[in-house]
Amino acid sequence: MKKLKSNAALILFIAFVVFNYQCTTSKKTKMTKLQTSVNKPIDITDLDLSVSPKEDFYQYATGGWQKKNPLPDDESRFGTFDQLAKETNQKIKDIITCLDPAKYDRNSIEWKIATFYKLGMDTEKIEADGLSPITEILTRIDDISTKRDLIKITYELHSIGIPALFGFYGAADRKDSNNQIAYLSQGGLGLPNRDYYVNDDERSKQIRDGYVDYIQKIFSISGYEAFAETWSSIIMKFETSLAEKSMTNLELRDPFATTNRLSLQEIQGLCPDFNLIKYFDYTKLNNQQFVNVGQPEFFKRLNEVYNEFTIEEWKIYFKWKVLNYSAPYLGKEFTDANFEIYGRVLTGTQEQQERWRRVVNRVNSSLGEAVGQIFVRQYFPPEAKKRMEELVENLRIAFGERIKNLDWMSDVTKQHALEKLQAIRVKIGYPEVWKDYSNLIIKDDNYLSNIFRSNKFDYEFMISKIGKPVDKTQWFMNPQTVNAYYSASMNEICFPAGILQPPFFYMDADDAVNYGAIGVVIGHEMTHGFDDKGRNYDKDGNLNNWWTDEDAENFNLRAQVLVDRYNAIHVLPDLTADGKLSLGENIADYGGLKIAYDALQIALKEKTTEKIDGFTPEQRFYLAYAKIWGQNIRETEIRRRTKEDVHSLGRWRVNGQLPGIKEFQDAFDIKEGDKMYLPPEKWINIW
Ligand SMILES: [Zn+2]
Repeated sequence: MKKLKSNAALILFIAFVVFNYQCTTSKKTKMTKLQTSVNKPIDITDLDLSVSPKEDFYQYATGGWQKKNPLPDDESRFGTFDQLAKETNQKIKDIITCLDPAKYDRNSIEWKIATFYKLGMDTEKIEADGLSPITEILTRIDDISTKRDLIKITYELHSIGIPALFGFYGAADRKDSNNQIAYLSQGGLGLPNRDYYVNDDERSKQIRDGYVDYIQKIFSISGYEAFAETWSSIIMKFETSLAEKSMTNLELRDPFATTNRLSLQEIQGLCPDFNLIKYFDYTKLNNQQFVNVGQPEFFKRLNEVYNEFTIEEWKIYFKWKVLNYSAPYLGKEFTDANFEIYGRVLTGTQEQQERWRRVVNRVNSSLGEAVGQIFVRQYFPPEAKKRMEELVENLRIAFGERIKNLDWMSDVTKQHALEKLQAIRVKIGYPEVWKDYSNLIIKDDNYLSNIFRSNKFDYEFMISKIGKPVDKTQWFMNPQTVNAYYSASMNEICFPAGILQPPFFYMDADDAVNYGAIGVVIGHEMTHGFDDKGRNYDKDGNLNNWWTDEDAENFNLRAQVLVDRYNAIHVLPDLTADGKLSLGENIADYGGLKIAYDALQIALKEKTTEKIDGFTPEQRFYLAYAKIWGQNIRETEIRRRTKEDVHSLGRWRVNGQLPGIKEFQDAFDIKEGDKMYLPPEKWINIW
């Protein structure tokens, strides 16, 4: 990588002085480079030249990388994406370990970050402290003497970040996106989704058995050994009862089914005995005109569960919620047991991640924008933002042209679509307004208590925003996160500094590579606003049908081609992809590929189109795209993701999409008879 231009280095150097880092020498070297291990845009050793690009493009483009990067024992999946995330966490660790708490005021973010991390790494103290960070809350559960208090304890657990029974959060009103309202949603399960409780296949049974073992183990080592077996079956019965009336992951994708604005009186009607309405007294939100209840049937079930289970059983459930949430932050016996179910059984991972990685992840969740501020000052050059803005605008132009030229969409719907496209807001790098952590209390007592305090800070922050105008400056991801998002209610796309690094984004690479990688990501997020879910929201982010019936039908017909294509893909010999669950993401990948390619053509105008490393710009575009999905993955993880993840697996984000794209066929001269060929009648032609 070339060095950054001198003025960038200067600006970064000033930030460096302001933050008064201790680890001067090593930091200085890193500051002059946006370096990751994936620095060469197209590296011939990442390819597998023994395979033809016409037969298996994914293997051709990433086979070499896969061979060079065998799956580590502590990962269930490891790809270039994960590699970048891991390296970014290493940078975060360097930042944190350079902060010496003795040098900072106790109210500074530096002291808070350093202290939080230090206590997280102090395993001796964690072992010695035992269950003391949760003794008080467990006693409070024990002291419950009437069922009327169950709602209060639910609130108390939520307020320190412990998920129990149901979800409660603030978000933009789907019908009036300028206002922040409260949302109630299904929840309360310990396994990742309801299918694991109710499905009868062998794998679900095996996971249920593993979960029961885990519950028993945790109760046993928490001093409840004599009751562990009985209690584990009560928990399974309790959670299964909630699971039976929970929506599937597929049902949850329907924004209409999950939009039910109910008054507090109506909510009380769903759940009268449990007295859910009291929750709004505790949160001081009892003046809310309405609340969105995602799954009314679930809350009716909650009332049945209230009556069916005894007060003693309810108390066991709440204790379980506290112990299960706390397990990853307690002593080794707890973290090992927790890893056994959530790592080994569910994902096939063989080994826990090193402790520092787990603690850095926790710092990222609890003090995300605090550490993010330091990260961007050190690693995010202003030029990157400028280059991204140019990329985004070229993508917007290209998408607009595509919409105008569609032969299946009426002029009136096109007009709405173009207005929505123009209205998409763009966030790049880091927030303009940083979250203020001055009210967050961090103490030097213990790790888990700090986690609860930071959860409480987040909960109160969330409550304080409900019933107010939506804060359009807020970010839903940390700047150091290697990811991107589209928000339907904000109609905005966001690209944190974390993803603006190789192999997604290269400051000094040719356009073909950047358009094939980050360009497709931009197009992917942009077209989420127009996928099977996003298209139901208008330019202002309101759930509002702006499609004519005929256009909607035409859209669905085209989308169905993609559903059928993915349903036919064997991810394992005995398992096919879920075309419906992954539809939105597959439409977005398709859109990203089409639009970014057009935008590249805009960028290439009057520029050289000669080959680099033997590849044309068009070929480099698709190679760069495939590279971001290069990965190794365990069979168990393939099964888990196929059931739970709305995204297709890396291999199929490449080999499932490209055969249906004409420009790809042209770039690699793919013809009928080649495995990477699909005839025009099987292209989806949405955009
Ligand atoms: Zn997506």
